[in-house]
Amino acid sequence: MKPDVKSMTLLELGEALHALGQPGYRARQVYQWLHEKRVLSFEQMENLPKALRQELSERFSLTALCCLRRQVSKLDGTEKLLLGLQDGGAVEAVLMRYRYGNTVCISTQVGCRMGCRFCASTLGGLVRGLTPGEMLDEVYALERFCGEKIGGVVLMGIGEPLDNYENVLKFLSLLSAPEGMNLSLRHVSLSTCGLVPEIDRLSGERLGLTLSVSLHAPDDETRKRIMPIAKKYPMQELMAACRRYFERTGRRVSYEYALIAGENDSPAQAKKLCALLRGQNCHVNLIPVNEVAERDCRRGSREAIERFQALLVRGGLNATIRRELGSDISAACGQLRRETAAREGL
Ligand code: SAH
Repeated sequence: MKPDVKSMTLLELGEALHALGQPGYRARQVYQWLHEKRVLSFEQMENLPKALRQELSERFSLTALCCLRRQVSKLDGTEKLLLGLQDGGAVEAVLMRYRYGNTVCISTQVGCRMGCRFCASTLGGLVRGLTPGEMLDEVYALERFCGEKIGGVVLMGIGEPLDNYENVLKFLSLLSAPEGMNLSLRHVSLSTCGLVPEIDRLSGERLGLTLSVSLHAPDDETRKRIMPIAKKYPMQELMAACRRYFERTGRRVSYEYALIAGENDSPAQAKKLCALLRGQNCHVNLIPVNEVAERDCRRGSREAIERFQALLVRGGLNATIRRELGSDISAACGQLRRETAAREGL
């Protein structure tokens, strides 16, 4: 396997080109072609000698994503791309337009092995983790296909980011590199189903990004019913890791709670959630569950969702109901890949 050139930092590229006997300025030239001009082949790197372009294409691989499907929401302009990888796999990436700028939601793995009961991404299991360069490709593809500048990135697409830890960390360093997108990690959120050792590892990196934890339940019993990971890491350990994240980084944790009718949305569960999170500097994001054909999770009424929120607020929590974007284009995690796979045997 040839090394993937887009996954290399400027420093690594410099070392590799030095080993090929190239002058010091070459690394910056190649980096610019990859991350500013975003060419799709070595051949297009016009200010490099022809022989070097040839040598680079023999020694390195250059990833590129093709757009398999593109959906634009008529309601709010949200765009969703189904992107094809070079090995035949596919992932989803979404562009969300907000008043204050554009945010993209990207995938970190092809499939997922976490097995959450309500989620479409996990239905076919995990195929593989994406490389740092492929995650950048998603961001670049959204800018290219949608013609928009991007001001924020959320790792909330297909996959469990902390199950692809090294590659995700490298992606974050490339995304924030001054000679690349130069995006401040303050504008990045990483969502996890709750891998405790990796949350601790992430706290130690002190990156300044927002940690979102998919909680979806106020106690172990309910959580185990909908999220297999709860069997591995009890709620108490997860909460302790979240508190440590806040202590070490100063960034408040955001909890996601997908409301599933009759499963985790009762008034008693709202009260339990208040007791669980009381005193934590955090935010609760309530998500009306997106119904997935293969899953038996149902969405409750708007009133039930608002009642749940009101109980949280009354209990002293900072809780909002997530505004739904792209609800007409199955923008929920993994749905488009799943539908297309079922139809076209992807
Ligand atoms: N694996 C990570 C990130 C990907 S999912 C995680 O678990 O956090 C991003 C968010 O969407 C998670 O909170 C996930 O639980 C939620 N989600 C997945 N399927 C959903 C569905 N059908 N309806 C509502 N939220 C869903």
